[in-house]
Amino acid sequence: MGKMVYNYKDISIILLDVVMPVCDGFEFLTRQKSDSLLASVPVIVTTGNNSQEDELKCLGLGAVDFITKPYNTRIVMSRIDSVIKLRESSMTLAAIEKDELTGLYTRQAFYHHARTLTNFMTDEIFNIVVLDVADFKLINGTYGIKKGNEVLIYLANAFKYYIKNGLLTRYEGDQLLALFHSKEKIDVDRIENNLNKIMEEAPIPNIRVKLGIYENVDTSLQIPIMCDRALMAVKSISKDFKQNIAFFTQEMNQKLLAQRQMENDFKDAIKNREFVVYFQPKYDVSSEQIVGAEALVRWQKEDGTLISPGLFIPLFESDGLVVQLDEYVFETVCRFQKDRMKQGLPILPISVNLSRASIHFSDVVQRYVNIIKENEIPFSCVPIELTESAALYSQQILEITNQMVNAGFKLHMDDFGSGYSSLTTLNELKFTTVKLDKSLIDYIAKPRGMKIVRQTIDLGHGLDMKVVAEGVETKEQRDCLIEMNCDEIQGFYYSKPLKQDDFIEKLRRCNG
Ligand code: C2E
Ligand code: MG
Ligand code: MG
Repeated sequence: MGKMVYNYKDISIILLDVVMPVCDGFEFLTRQKSDSLLASVPVIVTTGNNSQEDELKCLGLGAVDFITKPYNTRIVMSRIDSVIKLRESSMTLAAIEKDELTGLYTRQAFYHHARTLTNFMTDEIFNIVVLDVADFKLINGTYGIKKGNEVLIYLANAFKYYIKNGLLTRYEGDQLLALFHSKEKIDVDRIENNLNKIMEEAPIPNIRVKLGIYENVDTSLQIPIMCDRALMAVKSISKDFKQNIAFFTQEMNQKLLAQRQMENDFKDAIKNREFVVYFQPKYDVSSEQIVGAEALVRWQKEDGTLISPGLFIPLFESDGLVVQLDEYVFETVCRFQKDRMKQGLPILPISVNLSRASIHFSDVVQRYVNIIKENEIPFSCVPIELTESAALYSQQILEITNQMVNAGFKLHMDDFGSGYSSLTTLNELKFTTVKLDKSLIDYIAKPRGMKIVRQTIDLGHGLDMKVVAEGVETKEQRDCLIEMNCDEIQGFYYSKPLKQDDFIEKLRRCNG
């Protein structure tokens, strides 16, 4: 029933036979009524046995009417008709259009009312503003969900206070959005003042709230697209510590269109194998032999252009497509390893990246195990790289990483030192290898940087992990890393990511 929730408005009525296998009519009614959205769909119960007891029970459970066999078509039709009319005019819809926590419209309800508003008030100029809390997850994590909710309620009220003539919605968990009309142009200074006041008076200190504004809305667009534009604006400053207000611009629109294009092309690109896997070798520090590689994806378009993952991975992470892409890369690498095994060639571990979105995908472990089994290769030849930030929100990740380890996978912690480095995760999660991020290596020549890298390497070793340095570009950096007992080096100093054939060639030449 979970899935039906989103379509509850499309279901006008449910005709329910009390005698059903698996879940009988009474059970169905009980479950339906426990779901606040589905509960608004009226149910007429039908039954063969003319039992008054059943009838009373169903009515008690919230059924609106009761029809017994034999059916008279005209009577059935007219009852259905009147029940539907009754529902459509009823106020129950209004009650469930509001978000429980903030009292603002739910997104679906907002879409509906926004369309009506923009269709009828054709003389007005509309604007959309979205309010976004920076690092809301951290607030929940630090202060607890209860305080997090309090913050949201506070913001919703503040939003209501400042936005007159507006239609307000809780668009996403921590994003509030408003559509409003005004005669005057938007006064940025005034908004900035108001925003500062909102932040100062918030129930927790140092909260950062950002606004994305889409001014003078093109009302011929679909509502979700209008909203996207305000979201684009706020997203453009999400990592900017100074700027709290951003307006939608046409350049953003170009970017958005390019992103939509990529999303539209994705399915065919997978089918046509336009995503190609490059291999960046990893070198043993002392022997300078290739001891492994990392698989890095590129998008090779039909017209010959090569798109780097930095341009599409973050997008596909946000829309979930990365789950499919990750699996595609994993499968490609597994097949590569299987082919080499068949040819009797030496097998080196080739690590594959798994994005945070993929980890949350519940059957990821089973799916990956199946791919390994199909290709009849050892787990050790396809280690999985998880970025350090993915390890931040522990409990769920802990469970899935444990499942992966128990299944036989080797886990590498990627980008260590790039974000909220947490020594706890290093200790708690069962990683066999830690990869030091390029940003740490860039510091290595400075005294403090040297200290940090050295101690991180020692820490890794102390926890029985291998340490790989990433983004090594100079001899100087390499020399430092040798001296610090780092195990492996991956970086342009030795090699860029290579096409499969070039990688094979390099392996042959380097390792003999
Ligand atoms: P990453 O996993 O940390 O991969 C290392 C990135 O650093 C690669 O960038 C690599 O080309 C680059 N790099 C390696 N050595 C050097 C160096 O010496 N100097 C510099 N400046 N850069 C170096 P690339 O290939 O552009 O990939 C960027 C990111 O995209 C990857 O970072 C990874 O997070 C993501 N990515 C790539 N392929 C996949 C994939 O199949 N799945 C997922 N989920 N993410 C992927
Ligand atoms: Mg990686
Ligand atoms: Mg990395």
